Amino acid sequence: MKKIIQDLNLEELEGVVKELGEKPFRAKQLYTGIMQGKSLTQISVLPKAFTAELLENYEDTPVQIIKTLVSCDGTEKYLFRLADGNIIEGVFMQYSYGNTQCVSTQVGCRMGCKFCASTLGGRVRDLTAGEILSQVLVVNALHGKNGKRGITNVVLMGSGEPLDNYGNVIKFLRNMAAEGGINISPRNVSLSTCGLVPEMYKLAEEGLPVNLTVSLHNVTDEERARTMPIANRYKISEILKACSNYFEKTGRRYIFEYSLIEGENADAEHARSLCRLLAGRPCHVNLIRLNDVKERKLAAASELAAQNFLHELQSGGISATLRRRMGADIGGACGQLRAGYLQEN
Ligand code: SAH
Repeated sequence: MKKIIQDLNLEELEGVVKELGEKPFRAKQLYTGIMQGKSLTQISVLPKAFTAELLENYEDTPVQIIKTLVSCDGTEKYLFRLADGNIIEGVFMQYSYGNTQCVSTQVGCRMGCKFCASTLGGRVRDLTAGEILSQVLVVNALHGKNGKRGITNVVLMGSGEPLDNYGNVIKFLRNMAAEGGINISPRNVSLSTCGLVPEMYKLAEEGLPVNLTVSLHNVTDEERARTMPIANRYKISEILKACSNYFEKTGRRYIFEYSLIEGENADAEHARSLCRLLAGRPCHVNLIRLNDVKERKLAAASELAAQNFLHELQSGGISATLRRRMGADIGGACGQLRAGYLQEN
């Protein structure tokens, strides 16, 4: 596979321009065009010979939309094809405060959560920083108007475990935040992890104050391990310590994802245990009813059970919200679209 041009930051592009004997100002033109989601030939200010030379060495369209599904709530789901033919997916969501793009960080995933479609075929490979960024650039170009960005917020909640592809994800975050680029600050980014504790500590030292989100989904290690194999490696108590450290180092409150699964984690007793577990912590709980995945036997808790769970948390003094299942009509949950596509093809 060729090197991906979106992997490079401005400084690195300056190096490439110099190496190819072009004038230094071409680097900025190149960078601006790339950040606008353009392919090299679309950056019309560049000399043709220079473009041709770059194309010999670099992949310039690492992510292409091959299918779009539009939900009645404005959510859009995309199937992206990578340069090597692999398929990933992404979601675009519209909120009152701005537009959010959900990106994938790996092709597949090896964390093995029982409710998640992304993990069905295991991990195929990591995405490079440029492949992650390109998902944002492509969709931003689609939705941006009159020089206004189409995307203001990014969540790393697509396929893959971001902290299992640590180096590329950090590089992606830095490149996405860079001035003169798409300029999305870490404060507008949520990074979701199933709880890789050592990397959570590392992340706290990066000077990248993203919103740390942890997929908790249960209150005891034993029960958590039934749906999340990673629970055999890291205890909830260790995760909570890593969260406290993240708060101390970054000043950012953290978030727990809790997908309500019937018969697994959604009883009033679970809610009360969760209150005790999280009492006094600077955190928020995002509840969501499980998105049904047809390959998985697990079912969503009922709407009533979800409302009761929310009420139990709130009356226990825990900040919590029950999220709408956005795009449920178009297969909103992780990996569903890709899994369907792979089966059909
Ligand atoms: N690997 C990361 C990020 C990707 S998953 C993580 O584990 O956090 C993003 C979120 O969607 C996680 O909270 C994950 O547990 C949740 N999720 C996966 N499949 C789901 C489903 N079918 N219904 C509801 N939430 C799901």
